[in-house]
Amino acid sequence: MAYDILYCALCGKNYNDVNKLITDDDVTLCDVCYDFCAAAKGDEETNPPEVRSGPAADR
Ligand SMILES: [Zn+2]
Repeated sequence: MAYDILYCALCGKNYNDVNKLITDDDVTLCDVCYDFCAAAKGDEETNPPEVRSGPAADR
């Protein structure tokens, strides 16, 4: 994998378009999408995994 070309797995923006990219569990998300996912699954782990629509939506 290339380390210098990272982009959000959800919105597809690259590191130049966003404030920050967070790589979590093999999925790279921008700060906006990461915050969205964290808010969605942070409180209730029993939420339907709809937000994990990345390449690692295998869980
Ligand atoms: Zn994003």
